[in-house]
Amino acid sequence: MKNDILKTLHTIFGYSSFKPNQEKIITSILEGRDVFAAMPTGGGKSLCYQLPALIFPGLTIVISPLIALMKDQVDAAVENGIPAVFLNSSLSAEETTEIYSNLYSGKIKILYISPERLAIEGYIEKLHSFNVKFIAVDEAHCLSEWGHDFRPDYLFLAQLRNNFPSIPIAAFTATATKEVQKDIIRILSLEDPFIVRASFDRKELYYQIVNKNDPLSQIHSFINKHKGESGIVYRTSRKEVEKTASYLRRMGVKAIHYHAGLSKDNRAKNQEQFNNDEINVIVATIAFGMGINKNNIRYVIHGDLPKSIEGYYQETGRAGRDGLDSSCLLLFSSGDIMKQHYFINQIENPKEKERSQENLNRIIRFATVNVCRRKQILEYFNEEFNGNCGNCDVCNDDTEKVVASVDGQKLLSAIARTNQSFGINYIIDIVWGANTEKIRLRNHDKLKTFGTGKDKDKKWWRAIINELISQEFIYQDSEHYNVLKITDTGKAILFGKKEFYISKQTAVNDKKTTIKIRSDQKYLGVNEDLFFKLKEVRTKLAKEKNVPPYIIFSDKSLLEMCIKLPKTKNSFLDINGVGQVKLDIYGDIFLECINNYKTYYSSE
Ligand code: ADP
Ligand code: MG
Repeated sequence: MKNDILKTLHTIFGYSSFKPNQEKIITSILEGRDVFAAMPTGGGKSLCYQLPALIFPGLTIVISPLIALMKDQVDAAVENGIPAVFLNSSLSAEETTEIYSNLYSGKIKILYISPERLAIEGYIEKLHSFNVKFIAVDEAHCLSEWGHDFRPDYLFLAQLRNNFPSIPIAAFTATATKEVQKDIIRILSLEDPFIVRASFDRKELYYQIVNKNDPLSQIHSFINKHKGESGIVYRTSRKEVEKTASYLRRMGVKAIHYHAGLSKDNRAKNQEQFNNDEINVIVATIAFGMGINKNNIRYVIHGDLPKSIEGYYQETGRAGRDGLDSSCLLLFSSGDIMKQHYFINQIENPKEKERSQENLNRIIRFATVNVCRRKQILEYFNEEFNGNCGNCDVCNDDTEKVVASVDGQKLLSAIARTNQSFGINYIIDIVWGANTEKIRLRNHDKLKTFGTGKDKDKKWWRAIINELISQEFIYQDSEHYNVLKITDTGKAILFGKKEFYISKQTAVNDKKTTIKIRSDQKYLGVNEDLFFKLKEVRTKLAKEKNVPPYIIFSDKSLLEMCIKLPKTKNSFLDINGVGQVKLDIYGDIFLECINNYKTYYSSE
């Protein structure tokens, strides 16, 4: 079986090796076991069900929530020579009839259907007329109310198990929370599933946060450094979306916009232009997101503070699915915090309000403290990571840092002198010199540190405490009323053996600072001309076939062609993403382009 799997991986998908977890998932499915897999965007989930589908002697059904997603997946599969089809409301009666006749005759290996269709009375029974061997549920978080895209129609999928008791069912999602996992396993009645929780680290993403002082021109100058590349700009309100898009157009950037206020047709048209590389920049609210399968998005800009780390992670996660280096820029200002507070105050449900507040606090901390961004994101998903990722602004020294050892010592000394027995607010009160009864009763107004920080406001001291906690110089002891305790490295600061740095965001909030934008994508290297030539060829072919360009070849495959400069069909087959079918259809065209380029350069 292992041989079959590898052979299919090479000849059909054109890949030389598996991504993490793919092989284990595929073998489990082929052994007939249920699977639950949480893997990040770009982790390669489709291959986990498409590959077994090719090996099973019968039909695989894939449940997928959006028409656009289905079409994209089917286009991509068909390009690889896989007999795949979809059934949804976008098809004409004739098209549907033809698909059924191909299904009855066993010509189809993969059938994509929507949950709505499955919910039609008698539909599941109808599927029994086909030789169904395996069912995959993609974007499975849609069936959990904890997920961010809950879809009631997904609940009907609970009927699958009863109807197909003896075939494997596999669920895939990019949502990492345990609640979602539990819901999915329960609702689909997965039996002793093989569970995968992959790392959510997106190594190819560079995270960077700068102070927002002139957002439109900051966004514009970032985009200017990424000419010819696809990117998304997120803004919170429809008004800001429109304003930003028209500013960019005035500055000569071809940008379109997308928000829920546009008609359905308009939205679909704009998304398609972006998908097809006709337009590089899309400015959008977070209404733009699910259903984006485009794998060559090179950057995501957040012009405003996102509501949560989860949201930020999902939105930035749309960049770099092909595994090539991509950038995430967040513009931060304390004004955005006030705006979000305003919205949170309108929330009536107390639980929801509390959750939103907590989410906001965490993203503020994420954006302001001097701690590796990746470490903070992964910790949010309960994944341990020791920092020093080398691929964020903090680790690359792209942030501006300020020494704050004296202020740090004031707080640390207040904590030490009160025997590490008090919480955040009390410690701040001591340093700030608050005249409270509690402090007087305990004689803490006689401490040497009392009032040493009265020249600064409480917000400042709170921010410094955040930094001390995030940098692990102190921690809140959750078993003892969250009192603050000093760690060993914290002691080094207290005794002046180590400097304490805070980020400039903490130090100045939104006063003007210079922005360092990373000097740029390193992925191109020498053969940039050829890369753009190959992209042109790809766009032309994509137009003729009416599919998005990245479905013909990913940017990564094109890049590899530029580096390896294959001469023969055999060496072309070695390029990642080139399988037998693509070699037959496109080999000559791309080889010609590469050979022309070589001749041109060698004749110079
Ligand atoms: P997900 O659904 O998990 O977000 P996809 O299935 O869309 O991810 O895959 C992301 C990208 O990775 C696609 O461009 C896909 O072709 C590519 N990919 C998948 N498996 C492999 C592999 N084994 N080697 C190289 N690239 C792969
Ligand atoms: Mg997917």
